[in-house]
Amino acid sequence: MSADTEVERKISDFLRRNGKSKALVIAKEFRIDKHTANKHLYNLERSNKAFKTDEQPPIWDLVENMNELKLTPEPKQKSQTTTETSGEKDVEELLMRSGGLKASHIARDLGQPTQIINKQLYSMEKKGKAKKCSQSQVWSLNEEWSDESLSQESDSRLQDCKLSSHSELFEMITELGDGGYGCVYEVKHKLDGKTFALKKVDLTGKADSEVKALAQLEHPNIVRYITSWPGPDIWTSNQQRNQVSNNRKYLFIQMEFCEGGTLTDWIRARNDLRKQRIIGEIHKIFYDIITGVEFIHANKLIHRDLKPDNILFRADGKVKIGDFGLVAAQTDQSGNPIERSKRRGTPPYMSPEQENKKNYDEKTDIFPLGLIWFEMLWKISTGMERVKLWPDLRNQSFPEGFSDRYSAESTFIMKMLSYSPEDRPYAKDIKGDLQTFFSPEQDLLSQKTI
Ligand code: ATP
Ligand code: MG
Repeated sequence: MSADTEVERKISDFLRRNGKSKALVIAKEFRIDKHTANKHLYNLERSNKAFKTDEQPPIWDLVENMNELKLTPEPKQKSQTTTETSGEKDVEELLMRSGGLKASHIARDLGQPTQIINKQLYSMEKKGKAKKCSQSQVWSLNEEWSDESLSQESDSRLQDCKLSSHSELFEMITELGDGGYGCVYEVKHKLDGKTFALKKVDLTGKADSEVKALAQLEHPNIVRYITSWPGPDIWTSNQQRNQVSNNRKYLFIQMEFCEGGTLTDWIRARNDLRKQRIIGEIHKIFYDIITGVEFIHANKLIHRDLKPDNILFRADGKVKIGDFGLVAAQTDQSGNPIERSKRRGTPPYMSPEQENKKNYDEKTDIFPLGLIWFEMLWKISTGMERVKLWPDLRNQSFPEGFSDRYSAESTFIMKMLSYSPEDRPYAKDIKGDLQTFFSPEQDLLSQKTI
């Protein structure tokens, strides 16, 4: 047997024992460079013993493993090991992309129980791949490992890629929104292929507050922040750029991509009857929104721009509050009220005090939540109907039939729309009452159409 054939037999044995693997992992196992590992893997492919997936970087597996999977169920022990190995790869990729995360956060992102993720993390720690900061409980890849993986796995792509801005690591897929002070793009990371939302805002103090708040607010109902960096605008054409300003600097905010659209889309689809309103679904969504707002308020912040455009859905339907462009502290550092600029926000949803007073607190966020809950329940067919109904609604007057049909909800909404902030309930009280009165889980089970 030639030396090459011997190595290839060993690689086959390795794949048989451990399941599918990247070339880099195989190279490390046999202490050869990645180029040599690839040479052997392609030899195995030519002799129809191994194949590689289209993923980037490719993952190699034995043809016989494929057949085995299709024809007979795998023995329990082996399938567990394979799942663990592939699970570790997902964890590794997530840690590489994010720089560092808590186990609970990883579990949430990968949709796995924290217990399983912890097991994978400790196994990675044993192999020297990952480490945990004992103070912050944040897991990250061992520098040696991550540098090596990054440099070897993506060597050619990185060599081709001379970055003048971090934004160049992303390919722009589409523009998701061009709002008041920023522009949001759907982008794809050129190295790992994952999709993100990237918000480009003017580099100002306001942008600084937005990223600081997002970074602080780690919660299942708040859009997940990844990182941010300053840089030039790279996706606007030169001509457009010249029209605005030559060398303007922006802050780019990388966030999870909420593929399911906004609450505005959700409401629109129900108003034009493309979709049905289901009471259990409405209560569940509103419960998630109030849970997110409760967390913002518990962190001593105010959102100040709650509206359906700023409430997003992930592909799996999870509700996420976004757009922290107007976020503000509840009080100053000594706990005193802050003097604020008037009329900052979106007028139709703005509380009366946010429109005309210099001092206001977190109760300002409760007013728009009353309007949002109403809009989720009540069909508004035309723009004209909306124009007529809106000023009345803001003055606690509901259209005919609303209070009869939704007596419990209308009592809550009425309080939330109180002119005086002191008469409005706190987010945590609304959440508690929702649990008592509506039991979102039970509602969802009943799936009653309204
Ligand atoms: P505005 O001033 O109109 O509120 P803005 O400039 O402050 O807008 P955002 O509200 O953060 O920016 O985003 C504008 C739009 O981009 C959103 O309404 C939504 O359609 C889309 N968007 C924002 N963040 C995400 C995300 N993480 N995933 C998917 N879409 C998003
Ligand atoms: Mg917005």
